Amino acid sequence: MIEVTDLTKHYLHAGSRVAALSAVNLRIGQGEIYGIIGRSGAGKSTLIRCLNLLERPDSGEVRIGADALTAYSERQLQQRRQRIGMVFQHFNLLRSRTVAANVRFPLELAGGLSAAQMDARVDELLALVGLQDHQYKRPAQLSGGQKQRVGIARALANHPDVLLCDEATSALDPETTDAILALLADINRQLGLTIVLITHDMRVIRQLCDSVAVLDHGRVVEAGKVLDVFLQP
Ligand code: ADP
Ligand code: ADP
Repeated sequence: MIEVTDLTKHYLHAGSRVAALSAVNLRIGQGEIYGIIGRSGAGKSTLIRCLNLLERPDSGEVRIGADALTAYSERQLQQRRQRIGMVFQHFNLLRSRTVAANVRFPLELAGGLSAAQMDARVDELLALVGLQDHQYKRPAQLSGGQKQRVGIARALANHPDVLLCDEATSALDPETTDAILALLADINRQLGLTIVLITHDMRVIRQLCDSVAVLDHGRVVEAGKVLDVFLQP
């Protein structure tokens, strides 16, 4: 369960305070696929940065499971961040590393596993995303969809409590988008993993999400089950 309570964040812009988030409340159930949709400037990036703990809100609280993350010290946050998987629009892969080495990277950062254990975990992750046959390639040799599969495998490496997807399909063509959405649905089912995604693409919400929050000018203007919030065509 993820609970966001009265989250507020302002930025200073040219001497005045701009509200990026105003009293945002969200309840995201364990194992849910939760979409956050809104126009550019609505506050989506700010919200995801509060969820992945890269940004401190001005007020309000973020709880993931039992933990009130807003009360954590920087050091605690760094450790906690390893349990949050991030998937990015532009993949953010390391170009000089192979596919396998990109997926291995967060395991190396976290520490605690032997080289053999890390290799076994990488094999498992590559099988999960269907990239076993590409492990020695570099990112530049992959299609967009394959790059995002690497991004997803990497995000899952440390057994996260939640997968945060930031416009994860916005750089992909429609067909590849469908394949990546199907993979995310699979992962959600297989692992029971909670997925939170931000998007400006209604199709992503309709195809993948159980619940949705509509963000506008930093406020949640609608939230609930996708079937209740949007009129079906
Ligand atoms: P997107 O709509 O794709 O999320 P944005 O243009 O809103 O992209 O933001 C891209 C980055 O620029 C974000 O990291 C955000 O924090 C930063 N940013 C957005 N607006 C401003 C601004 N007015 N001043 C400084 N940084 C900004
Ligand atoms: P979205 O991701 O939905 O496009 P953002 O969270 O990036 O929205 O931005 C929400 C609002 O906050 C916008 O008005 C944006 O210009 C402003 N903003 C975002 N990041 C910054 C920043 N680092 N400095 C100043 N203003 C920002």
